[in-house]
Amino acid sequence: MSLFSSVYAERDDEVRAILEAVRCPSPQRVEEILAHSGAASSDALNLAELAELLQIGATPGTDSDASFEMLRAHTRRLWRAPSGNRVRYVAPIYVSSFCVDACPYCNFSALRKDTVRHRLGLAELDREIELVLARDARVVELVYATDPEYDTRMLVRDVSRAVEAVRHLDGGGVLLCTEYLSAHAYEALADAGLRGIVQWDETLDERAYARWHAASPRKSDFRTRMDNHDRALGAGLEVANGALFGLADFRYDALMQVARARYFAEAWGRGPFVMGTARLKPIAGKELHLQTTVDDRAHETALMVYKIALPQAGRWLQTRETFEINLRNLLDDDVFTYSCGEVQPGGYTQINATSPAGAQFGVNEMERSYVDRALSAQGFHIDYGWMAAPRALATR
Ligand code: SF4
Repeated sequence: MSLFSSVYAERDDEVRAILEAVRCPSPQRVEEILAHSGAASSDALNLAELAELLQIGATPGTDSDASFEMLRAHTRRLWRAPSGNRVRYVAPIYVSSFCVDACPYCNFSALRKDTVRHRLGLAELDREIELVLARDARVVELVYATDPEYDTRMLVRDVSRAVEAVRHLDGGGVLLCTEYLSAHAYEALADAGLRGIVQWDETLDERAYARWHAASPRKSDFRTRMDNHDRALGAGLEVANGALFGLADFRYDALMQVARARYFAEAWGRGPFVMGTARLKPIAGKELHLQTTVDDRAHETALMVYKIALPQAGRWLQTRETFEINLRNLLDDDVFTYSCGEVQPGGYTQINATSPAGAQFGVNEMERSYVDRALSAQGFHIDYGWMAAPRALATR
């Protein structure tokens, strides 16, 4: 099986060498770079060119302001028409907030004793699924913390339940967000009808990763986790990958994610269907002591660079961000969710009366009618049933 870990050291060296030498490009240089960037994968820029564009997000000044606006105009010209743009909707359904891991940026961390935790029973899971489907969602994402109760058999049970519920809905499908799993687990889940996985790498900077995850018994295994998407791809699943911006230098994270997505396309014949764009935010008023901050300008630059680098992939714009930022950055085919079930198990059906003490992190839940109106004014509509038929899997 092809594994990203086999090329990791090479890509890591390459990206670090590029970032060591990179300078913020002048507006003329940006024009030159963008002149050979287009809407097809074959037009995609190399990592050194992308690093120059990322540097715009890290450099204050009048010239870089002008370059930033050039990036905005370029991405909007290619991927945001005055009308007819779509955003793909995913309804996350949290199933368990019990976790053995201890990520300091997450309210489900085992070290947080005040978190109100819940594990959905089967009838509760059914009710949550029923409710989101009644609100027109057709693509659901089952979300689990690292809960030891959920072995492969239990995950297959839940996925089968959700698959049965969406089976007859055009464009429907089930995605899964868990910690890393084995190839065998992914094969069993694919057989149960799972269509894809959603997992962020957090960061591929190994030292920064260790700083944040050394206290996590399972998640601290950087190498095994790094190959998780390969195991899912090998089972015929679609994948969503991305970094959690704020754990390390955002330029390194963005370039490594692009390198990884391109590796997937080469090794497996398909890249990610969407790139995660999550950015660290304080939770429950607790300071995170970040060594690296990613301001709006840096974050938005990374979003645009993802699209320029991987034209066929959408970006998953997050409810952790304000609607204003999301609206400004949306491009055709992005994934967007206006309601996340309060990011806690039973959030849609109010099992815990949606206690903020039970939520994984802070989110901006939105009213559908308001979102519809605001999106429509910008030429977007929401596509609830966007998942294509499963691809045929030649061999496993
Ligand atoms: S980010 Fe995931 S693994 Fe880490 S504490 Fe939260 S739920 Fe657990």
